[in-house]
Amino acid sequence: PRKRIAVVFGGRSSEHAISCVTAGSVLQAIDPTKYDVVPIGIATDGRWVLESGDPDLLQITSPDKLPEVDGARAAVMLTRDSGGTDLVVHEPSQPPQTLGEVDVVFPLLHGPWGEDGTIQGLLEMAGVRYVGAGVLASAVSMDKSYMKVVLGAAGLPLMSSLTVTAREWYRDPDGLTHRIGELGYPVFVKPARGGSSIGISKVHHAGELAEAIEEAHRHDPKALVEVAAEGAREVECGVLQALDGTPETSVPAEIRITGDHEFYDFAAKYLPEEHTELDVPADIPDDVAATMRELAARAFEAVGCEGLARVDFFLFPDGSLVVNEINTMPGFTPLSMFPRMWAATGLDYAALVDRLIELALRRDTGLR
Ligand code: ATP
Ligand code: MG
Ligand code: MG
Ligand code: MG
Repeated sequence: PRKRIAVVFGGRSSEHAISCVTAGSVLQAIDPTKYDVVPIGIATDGRWVLESGDPDLLQITSPDKLPEVDGARAAVMLTRDSGGTDLVVHEPSQPPQTLGEVDVVFPLLHGPWGEDGTIQGLLEMAGVRYVGAGVLASAVSMDKSYMKVVLGAAGLPLMSSLTVTAREWYRDPDGLTHRIGELGYPVFVKPARGGSSIGISKVHHAGELAEAIEEAHRHDPKALVEVAAEGAREVECGVLQALDGTPETSVPAEIRITGDHEFYDFAAKYLPEEHTELDVPADIPDDVAATMRELAARAFEAVGCEGLARVDFFLFPDGSLVVNEINTMPGFTPLSMFPRMWAATGLDYAALVDRLIELALRRDTGLR
């Protein structure tokens, strides 16, 4: 029988809409002659529902009309029986109906409750194979403070930073402001567990600090204050495992922010009328590209990623590279950096999706 792939999208994080957009593309790219596809939405309140998967509903048409999972649809759950893991659909006032076995779950979720090991843990418990990083690699990569501990221990170059929890900030804002001053302005303040630049601010002097920290804490009680990579270019590299597990790397790409954006913020990332140039591949010297690819593979291995990751870097004028962060479920529309870097490396969108499913099918569930 054909394998059944459940594409799970939406979710409880602030990147809900981005995940919907990604799902719109992935749902269309899965080869229907090879796989049965079931679109499953997670509503913003956490409800799992059977979605329509209609691509027209899963795109950004204007900044004030972002796509969203419809939580009123029929509920879906995963249940494990002796034969495998089944998807069960429950319409209100009707008996539950099984859709049958699910072979692979594609958790196309960004941010907390999706990219952070939580759904990966649920899928491990349910004994179902899934695409991408496992529990620990997801959790470590999502949390920028732990990501730095792990990547730093592996000898990867990082910007200096300080973790500031809401409790610490409440207790001693003056002491922390002093310590942050020692890092040197400007700094970037970020939610430790976030994505899509949501909650991130650039802080030019101490007077702007409190507001930036409070903004980051609105998204996560843990914030990261990081030295700004002034004068650096922003370059990224995709990592994708070969079927034997080897991490392969894409050609690097560069993001050039034009217009009035001070950095690669949410609007520059996603809103169509904003001016962001993506150079794929990046116009950088061959030796820099080679070093970047090596560092990206090392970051992938250091965290113990699986499947895919996008490693973001800063490239300084002297040619030195610093790892900014690793994303275990990077933006994945055909216009997103990750698929574009792979397309430029010779792997098109459909082939990329197919590889990820093939890798997931090889996953060990630990069930005998
Ligand atoms: P993503 O969508 O890539 O997962 P994210 O929310 O995890 O984003 P970062 O990638 O850490 O956040 O930062 C978002 C953007 O903010 C960067 O692409 C860059 O433009 C800017 N930025 C973040 N940290 C720094 C820094 N230390 N120096 C300069 N720019 C920075
Ligand atoms: Mg990120
Ligand atoms: Mg992210
Ligand atoms: Mg980033």
